[in-house]
Amino acid sequence: MAEAIAITGRTQLVGVMGDPIGHSKSPTLLNAAFAASGLDFRMVALPVPEGRGADAVAALGVLGFHGCSVTMPHKNAVIARLDSVSDSAKRLDAVNCIRRDGTTLIGENTDGEGFIRGLAEDTGFDPAGARCVVVGAGGAARAVILALANAGATRIDVINRTRSFAEAAVALAGATGHIGEPGDVAQADLVVQATSVGMSETDPSAIDPTHLGEGQIVADLIYHPSVTPTMRAGTQAGATVSNGLSMLLHQAAVAFEHWTGVTAPIEAMRSALS
Ligand code: NAP
Repeated sequence: MAEAIAITGRTQLVGVMGDPIGHSKSPTLLNAAFAASGLDFRMVALPVPEGRGADAVAALGVLGFHGCSVTMPHKNAVIARLDSVSDSAKRLDAVNCIRRDGTTLIGENTDGEGFIRGLAEDTGFDPAGARCVVVGAGGAARAVILALANAGATRIDVINRTRSFAEAAVALAGATGHIGEPGDVAQADLVVQATSVGMSETDPSAIDPTHLGEGQIVADLIYHPSVTPTMRAGTQAGATVSNGLSMLLHQAAVAFEHWTGVTAPIEAMRSALS
């Protein structure tokens, strides 16, 4: 691993705020990326209690932080204190990356771009002209739906346990979005598993395996375990499968690029996670 540059008065600080934050892999991932790129940057974990996200944004400004990743439960709360918010973060009502431009703090959401880049790296998939099914309608699913629509998917069916959340998520896709039925999976080029079902080895496949088949891509957003029940079902049906590790890496890579203006060293970041 590359040696980090010693911390001095000129070192640029970025944070990652959350509650809890001790388990976060972000400092390991981003500090490896800064070191590999020879940049005088450091990331530190900021344990910001629930309800204090907006105060923490004000503190970032005062303390001269160059940026900050934002995780649960602050992704929405920070918006109120930011100077501006990107279009996608506004539509998702969620910020996962804050960057500084002079004295201005700007909110971004890097999850969707991270998903598209990660899927391209894992499988070569291009959403332009594709028919997609997204199972789930939480924060991760919403970012994926918006990104697929922006990347030119021609149809996006959203299937979710709670219909009202599915309706809100479908609206992100505009005319290409539809409330889906389990049988729609059979017609999809890309099937995204974006629920939390599969985080336990004993969970069932979140998608009926009888609808999966050859020629499809089955992308599970879960990365632990690295092979989920949905991925096993996809493999048995002859589909190409991927897990959420590349999305995790690439959403951090997009944040790195916002902060530094330098292309992220993906392989160094991947090694830091292994
Ligand atoms: P979330 O906002 O809490 O949404 C959870 C989703 O799972 C909702 O659609 C929920 O349906 C559904 N769900 C939960 N339990 C279910 C069950 N028993 N049966 C059917 N549906 C169920 O969570 P999130 O942040 O979107 O995360 C979702 C998954 O994506 C998690 O596994 C997380 O680890 C993963 N993720 C990965 C990345 C990455 O970088 N790879 C990033 C973020 C998240 P209802 O609407 O009906 O409650």
